[in-house]
Amino acid sequence: MPAKSYRGRFAPSPTGPLHFGSLVTALASYLEAKCRNGQWLVRIENLDPLRESTPAVHQILKSLQAHGLIADEKVRFQSDRHQAYFQAIDALRLSGKAYYCACSRKLLKAHGGHHPDQCRQQTQPPAEATPRALRFALEDAEVRWHDEFLGPQQQVVKAEIDDPVILRKEGFFAYQLAVVVDDIDQGITDVVRGSDLLEMTAQQLQVFAALKTPAPRWLHIPVILNHDGQKLSKQNHAPALDDQTPGINLWQALRMLGQRPPQELQHMGPEQILGWACTHWQRELIPRHSVAV
Ligand SMILES: [Zn+2]
Repeated sequence: MPAKSYRGRFAPSPTGPLHFGSLVTALASYLEAKCRNGQWLVRIENLDPLRESTPAVHQILKSLQAHGLIADEKVRFQSDRHQAYFQAIDALRLSGKAYYCACSRKLLKAHGGHHPDQCRQQTQPPAEATPRALRFALEDAEVRWHDEFLGPQQQVVKAEIDDPVILRKEGFFAYQLAVVVDDIDQGITDVVRGSDLLEMTAQQLQVFAALKTPAPRWLHIPVILNHDGQKLSKQNHAPALDDQTPGINLWQALRMLGQRPPQELQHMGPEQILGWACTHWQRELIPRHSVAV
């Protein structure tokens, strides 16, 4: 059987405009896809209306466009996908892999991460109206997997203690469920993302298995740090990308990824820079550790 053709994605949460760190991730996932004649998709992970905004969605899409990073399919919004997440939750509950939990963080902490109310048996909607989260029931495991860039990985997953929330008490779906459901639905074969998400992988492997679908390949790239050694992020007030200077931004992003674009390339348009990058992309040049801007 021929190998499935490459399908990658960039999946930002619209909690603010795109910053340089997210451009580096977007560019790496784009180049990995394009080098392999694959498809590159964009998915807006807008699961939490309290933290996200519509202007941020527009800004992100505008920035990607200004940098020539055009998705091969219509942009997907997780806010349109609630039905699919509910279906996945039902399937998980039926197989005993998802359960209702009213425990507070404080209560769990007091019990060393265990659920004093035997929540794990509550796979049916409870009669009382107390707000409850739904959690995914992990299995105790020493999970081994291969990162396409970092090589062999090993993570310990603790049943009950690590069980992630998949539907929050407030009624919002959580990342660990939605990301897997959409990667499955969109036929994603390869995920390129920041190594700050590395530790999510073992749990996600178990969610893929519970939904009876093979997991994609993963490639984690180093996190970009600011001058204070913190991850460049919206929480750390990383400045928005300047869409007026896409050439310089892309050139710098390539340098962060260890590539060696010629000096004069930074004065070119995104199309020329991406063209050069697709021809010259060398995954093995990506630095193995966090890099500072
Ligand atoms: Zn509980």
